[in-house]
Amino acid sequence: MDSGTPERRLPVTERTRHRRLREQGSLDRDQLDSILDAGFICHLGVTVEGSPMVVPTVYGSDGGTLYFHGSVASRSLLASPAATVCATVTHVDGLVLARSVFEHGVNYRSAMVHGTARLVTDPEEKLAGLRCLTEQATPGQWDYARRPSPKELAATALLALPLDEASVKIRTGAPDDGAGEDARLGLWAGVLPLRATWGELEPDPLLPAGVEAPVHLAERIGTPAN
Ligand SMILES: Cc1cc2nc3c(=O)[nH]c(=O)nc-3n(C[C@H](O)[C@H](O)[C@H](O)COP(=O)(O)OP(=O)(O)OC[C@H]3O[C@@H](n4cnc5c(N)ncnc54)[C@H](O)[C@@H]3O)c2cc1C
Repeated sequence: MDSGTPERRLPVTERTRHRRLREQGSLDRDQLDSILDAGFICHLGVTVEGSPMVVPTVYGSDGGTLYFHGSVASRSLLASPAATVCATVTHVDGLVLARSVFEHGVNYRSAMVHGTARLVTDPEEKLAGLRCLTEQATPGQWDYARRPSPKELAATALLALPLDEASVKIRTGAPDDGAGEDARLGLWAGVLPLRATWGELEPDPLLPAGVEAPVHLAERIGTPAN
């Protein structure tokens, strides 16, 4: 368990206390920030009319708050401010291929945030939250693209979830059965790494001739995606 420095240690609550696979847990807030900064999609778990619903959704993190957006008609977003939610961000780094099927696993970095989300109504905070969300996925795009109109803003719900109660788990390295009895089986074992990178840009076929891709997009080609 990585505890981080005292001033950057995540508080442990009854909800965030790691119970299983505790050695993969981390209390380092810098690792939380790095996992959140590396992604832009999370799975938001919320109870809607008594049933659990886990919704893949775009997020933005400013270090203290996680922002989610969607239609004002979105059932999962509308249900969120009234209840406790859980947002999970996952990055898969590789398949851990052991000698035994039992010891197979995944190398990963994941973060879980628990709490109660707040519907953002202040116009300035709403714009700042939407900017954070847009910039998380595509840095440079908020200043490049047209900003939301008042009508578009009215049709958009923005939720803010504080990063006060969060947990981190990370697995790295080789399979766990290299020194056990199964090592004598003579089977190959190791890790099949997974590396996501941004691909070549695909211009909209309706783009008029002469409209070049902006630098902030061209520069991302071939760079790591998480
Ligand atoms: C890609 C991926 C694949 C996985 N596959 C499996 C699998 O097949 N089988 C399996 O048993 N486990 C798997 N895990 C680990 C799994 O996510 C849980 O950590 C583990 O199963 C413990 O679950 P639990 O229900 O006992 O939670 P508990 O240990 O009771 O959870 C307590 C608290 O710990 C924190 N926590 C738990 N898990 C995570 C996490 N992953 N990230 C951040 N915080 C966490 C949360 O705050 C949670 O409320 C996988 C993880 C990832 C990222």
